[in-house]
Amino acid sequence: MDIEQFRKAGYQAIDRICDYYYSLREKPVVSQVEPGYLRKALPDAAPVKGEEWQGIADDYQKLIIPGANLPFPVSMRSSSPSLMMSSSTCNPGFNWFASPACTELESVVMDWAAKMQACSQNQPLSSRQLIQYYVQTTASDSALTAIVAARARYTTANPGVPLESLIIYVTSQTHSFGKKAALILGLRVRAIDVDEDVRAGWGLDGAKLRQSVEEDREAGLHPFILVATVGTTSTGAIDRIADLGATIKENFQFLWLHVDAAWAGVTLSCPEHREKAQLAGINEYADSLCVNFHKWGLTNFDCSALWVRDRGLLVNALDVTPEYLRTKHGDAGTVIDYRNWHLSLGRRFRSLKIWFVLRSFGIEGFQSYIRRCIALSDVFAKYIQESDIFDFVAPPSFALTVFRIAPVSEPNADLAQLNDLNHAFHEALQSHHAELVLTQTEVGGVFCMRLAVGAARTEERDIVQAWTIIKEVAEDVLRRWKD
Ligand code: PLP
Repeated sequence: MDIEQFRKAGYQAIDRICDYYYSLREKPVVSQVEPGYLRKALPDAAPVKGEEWQGIADDYQKLIIPGANLPFPVSMRSSSPSLMMSSSTCNPGFNWFASPACTELESVVMDWAAKMQACSQNQPLSSRQLIQYYVQTTASDSALTAIVAARARYTTANPGVPLESLIIYVTSQTHSFGKKAALILGLRVRAIDVDEDVRAGWGLDGAKLRQSVEEDREAGLHPFILVATVGTTSTGAIDRIADLGATIKENFQFLWLHVDAAWAGVTLSCPEHREKAQLAGINEYADSLCVNFHKWGLTNFDCSALWVRDRGLLVNALDVTPEYLRTKHGDAGTVIDYRNWHLSLGRRFRSLKIWFVLRSFGIEGFQSYIRRCIALSDVFAKYIQESDIFDFVAPPSFALTVFRIAPVSEPNADLAQLNDLNHAFHEALQSHHAELVLTQTEVGGVFCMRLAVGAARTEERDIVQAWTIIKEVAEDVLRRWKD
């Protein structure tokens, strides 16, 4: 394809992308294709001779788009500015020399984002703010990197500690990435049980942490990092970061405190949510903080922000510099070489997306998007609260409602019966996948449903429509259950 053909194809592509977003309301939320649909539609091997672009572009429309899901409702947690241009330049960006703009924009916009979230040197909130930062692929990668840095810090301070005695601390509610990181690194993991507290909206506190550390140290084990969460995946529960941080500072300074705020961290942008989102504890005590802009921050996948207290610890753990990666500026230490901050060498120009989003929306626009999602979620939560067939499984958290059928008319139904009922409800909702998808979870043995608002174009009518379907399906399932 020459440049003029690329220009023409580009115009057509942007027209098609706009048509796609305009027509989202008419599209099923979940793809209606069957497993294996694409293998049947595509040849067994790549073409020997290159094909005309138009045919490829048409196949994309015909074959790929129907197999793509829309996040409920009416797509998209992303926004148009974040779709622009981030793949348009070839910027491997592994060191400053490879792409000065990629490196420098990342530093600038991560500082902007930190300030917006008040996690910054310039906010008078705390003496020890998180000040060094970069953009990762995902929260799972962010946590993995933090764990590697924490392990290096611990083993440097405690030479000779057998690797098999090291333990990663997570809680029963931490995202599964904690266990996966342990698998990848060949380390032990302990999930501290917080299920009881989660039903009240809270997670881990200092007392439980202290008990676990004391038990494990007595058994000759070496906990070296705690992965705490602000806004857990299942229920939006919040670990008490200040309490945990103070416990660590007073008793267990060898523990690295990583705060996974992948989903809820964006609420730090709104002053009224900062207390709940644990800003003071984060600023005072966290060694690292992760916020996914691709989850609930108007930015398309992938774009996960990681702030660290001391970048030297990442570099100490991850710096490998063969001759072919040495540069004048890197040797002089006058620039950041982000390759030394994480696993991969090459990196995409993800900061462009945040730059476009923050400039296009401004801090006020970003805040009003977060506030609108929470207000819409409150509308849904009110329906649940006023209903006599549903109940909350945990208090609504930011823009997440976790609920199940628990009819007032069936006060004697036990956990197993209610779980059966809710499994039937979840099953029945599957036939409405064109309009609505609710993800299920289990909290302390209770099977339940989750509705999170996060799409930039969700309106109150979408919430009303979702509620209408949920209520009708639940009433139907309940009728059949009673028979
Ligand atoms: N942390 C929380 C609280 C999440 O909800 C999720 C995903 O749902 C993750 C981490 C994992 O995110 P990622 O896909 O960026 O690794």
